[in-house]
Amino acid sequence: MTKSSILMIYTGGTIGMKQDPVDMTLKPFDFSQILDEVPELKKFAFRVDAFTFNPLIDSSDVEPSMWQKLADLIKERYDDYDGFVILHGTDTMAYSASALSFMLENLSKPVVFTGSQLPIGVPRTDGKENLVSAVEIASARDSIGHSIVPEVSIYFNSKLLRGNRSTKTSSEAFSAFSSPNFPSLAEAGISIKYDLGAIRRPDFWEEPLKISTELDTRVSILKIHPGITPQVMRYFLCGPETRAVILETYGSGNAPSKQWFTDIIREASEMGKIIMNVTQCLSGTVDMSIYATGKALKELGVISGQDITTEGALGKLFYLMGKSKDNECVKKRLGENLQGEISI
Ligand code: ASP
Repeated sequence: MTKSSILMIYTGGTIGMKQDPVDMTLKPFDFSQILDEVPELKKFAFRVDAFTFNPLIDSSDVEPSMWQKLADLIKERYDDYDGFVILHGTDTMAYSASALSFMLENLSKPVVFTGSQLPIGVPRTDGKENLVSAVEIASARDSIGHSIVPEVSIYFNSKLLRGNRSTKTSSEAFSAFSSPNFPSLAEAGISIKYDLGAIRRPDFWEEPLKISTELDTRVSILKIHPGITPQVMRYFLCGPETRAVILETYGSGNAPSKQWFTDIIREASEMGKIIMNVTQCLSGTVDMSIYATGKALKELGVISGQDITTEGALGKLFYLMGKSKDNECVKKRLGENLQGEISI
């Protein structure tokens, strides 16, 4: 088997920061010095190359255009590397990993996102372990040379999670990400233990990578809450700029049963808007057959997001709407499990 080679793509975020000795603020460091900062990378018996985005960004500034650049870059370098590690700020990592999981079709190599809560240049950083293990996972291959984790994932604090199942659940713990509705793909201890039953593998390994960079971003996210008004509802659901709405509902997909609420959902539905029901709960699924309040939504044409995360729902909608102008076709495909984002 030939030796692995990994491309590390640095987009910004806390992981690549170092304290400026003069003004003591955190600033991105020159990534060409990564081997000085993380000499552990030199111990791998394979090539680790680096690509730095310009400008580097705090991931709060991530836009779909960056996902398109990432997809283009991976496509361009796909044959030169066995795996890709994307260093990314934690704030929107789950959004980026979700979107990329849909945009990279026929993926047969690992794309591992990682980052850190403390910059790599501070003594207690979690960045080194995250980075070194992410590189190891991206390079892992089985006895016949296939990647062990050929999907888009997030490695953080000893856990490898499916990208489109992940969500940031802590702003300060090292364990910043969770995958509430799907098991970890791997856990790192003395050795890295892969859950081979959970990891997705392509049907055809030789199928070339296809990228889908056409995204339609006319989506809004509305979290239902006690006291929500008809004005706000109508603005989010019926506005001319909205093609789809992710409705974050209560529990198993329930919403108020007031007449005005139902009327606005009906109005939006009749306008042809795509309304996707995603639960506000951290874990569990939408099931619109349990309560009358959920059933009413189903009867009005609201689509169940099942157990998808909001980040996953956003990426799935951008991707499907970019592929088709036909809302009925998008609605149908929302119910399908495209990249392991829902449990069917
Ligand atoms: N604000 C930072 C970012 O998302 C936080 C981090 O990287 O942890 O870019």
